[in-house]
Amino acid sequence: MENEYKKQIAILGSTGSIGTQALEVISENDSLFDVYALTANNNVDLLIEQSRKYLPEMVAIGNEDHYQKLKEGLTDLPIKVFAGEDSIAQLAEMQPIDMVLTAMVGYSGLKPTMSAIKAGKKIALANKETLVVAGELVCDLAANFNSAILPVDSEHSAIFQCLAGEGNNPIEKLILTASGGPFRTKSMRELEHVTSAQALKHPNWDMGAKITIDSASLMNKGFEIIEAKWLFGVSPDQIEVVVHPQSIIHSMVQFADGSIKAQLGMPDMKLPIQYAFTYPDRLKTNFPRFEFSLCDQFTFEKPDMERFRNLAFAYYAMDKGGNMPCILNAANEIVVAEFLKDKIGFLQMSDIIEDVLAKAEFVAKPTYDDYVKTDALVRVLTKELIK
Ligand code: MN
Repeated sequence: MENEYKKQIAILGSTGSIGTQALEVISENDSLFDVYALTANNNVDLLIEQSRKYLPEMVAIGNEDHYQKLKEGLTDLPIKVFAGEDSIAQLAEMQPIDMVLTAMVGYSGLKPTMSAIKAGKKIALANKETLVVAGELVCDLAANFNSAILPVDSEHSAIFQCLAGEGNNPIEKLILTASGGPFRTKSMRELEHVTSAQALKHPNWDMGAKITIDSASLMNKGFEIIEAKWLFGVSPDQIEVVVHPQSIIHSMVQFADGSIKAQLGMPDMKLPIQYAFTYPDRLKTNFPRFEFSLCDQFTFEKPDMERFRNLAFAYYAMDKGGNMPCILNAANEIVVAEFLKDKIGFLQMSDIIEDVLAKAEFVAKPTYDDYVKTDALVRVLTKELIK
């Protein structure tokens, strides 16, 4: 049976890991959702394939070099084709769109997310860097333009699910779980020699390259504590990280009466994506179910911030505020890119980030232009320090 009205969804970053899984969620519920727009940065072949299958009204490719190919690939279809970073931000504002899934990688997500918020769209937020870089600005904007931000990150979706029905009940703390990544048990000496290929083998979650490296270095968890601060309005000392290598508990909330609520399930990003799309409703799924009787252990440990210093840097940046998280993010994007090319070692990533945090110019009350400037300057500074 056809629904009277289908929710019109724009996916920014449709060719990445989250984007492709979101399209699967839409396929499985095609009486509820319609793909209004798709965007990608470089993967023009997959964007063409997705567009031919989902028939969006419009598509955009960030890298303008691919415009001709995209245009030709869709020439027999009534799909509007755009290119360039600005077109992605403009497309996110289109009137018929109900929800924008922000699934692009890194700082590049900030501008289009702000455009979508200003247009009053609901945001399914998968691009955590948006809140890491400019959390205060983005949250103020969302409040002013009456735009809801729904978390897609599995930990934040878990917390969001635990908070459903709790009204204004006071939160004592948020407990974010971390898998600990592929290097959880490695010594400092071993960490000196690990390669990007080893880091790319995440034990539990199947994700893009950048976030997989961030998971191995715990920078991803560092970004997530900052993301949690903004999404849930808690103070830094109310956010705790606990390593839970089985990745079944996706995160927890401890309330003022001491009660702890947890959200559990198999690690599959399609669930948090779908929950953001359907909130406050839940839809039936066919994902594999977690079986307690088949699970022989459930373990928890404290994160080691001496071996994984990025988490300590993130707590520092969150406490310091201003443009410090933006500095952290820009430095991290550069060192991760260099590590992926095997130009620097795993531990060197943290050494360089620490150096950048000390040297970059601190701005206590940054405007949007300050963030743009900080991001550009810190990228240059980080590259200089790597040389
Ligand atoms: Mn996560």
